Parts: sequence; structure tokens; C-alpha cells
Amino acid sequence: MWYSVCSRAFGKTACRSVGAQGQERFTMAVPKQKKGRGATHTRRSANSKLATPARSECPRCGAPKLPHHVCPSCGYYKDREILVVE
Ligand SMILES: [Zn+2]
Repeated sequence: MWYSVCSRAFGKTACRSVGAQGQERFTMAVPKQKKGRGATHTRRSANSKLATPARSECPRCGAPKLPHHVCPSCGYYKDREILVVE
């Protein structure tokens, strides 16, 4: 005769079954049903959002540039010429 004890003490949610001769069996918690294709896609797509690169506008020439970077079109950063752009 087997009896089983289920608790969180055996891993996350596992059951320990003990037989009449003192044998032990461990069973893990298993999902009751297979997840559908849509549920799988929803779960996976939630973590795969593409990050848009940060953009800012140059206050001198108005060209798009990366924030905290020298403007590649006029070569200025904080009203000072850093790069000589020809
Ligand atoms: Zn500029």
C-alpha cells in the first residue's frame, strides 16, 4: 500500500510517496493540459519586444542624433565644435 505526501518541502510542488516496504517515489507537479499554440505564441511574444533606439534632435542644425553624442551632421556638442565636418 502506497501513501503520498504532497507539500512544498520536496522542491517546488512535488509529492513523496512511501510504499509498504519503505520504498520512496518522487513525482513532480505536471501541467494538466497541453497549452495551445496561441497561448505559447502569446507568452513568447511578450518577451520579444524590439527596443526602438533613442533619438533626439540636434539643437543647432535640427538633424536627428543620438542623445549625449556629438551631432554627426554639424559636429557640435553643447554649443562647442567637437568634430570638423566638411
Ligand atoms: Zn547638428
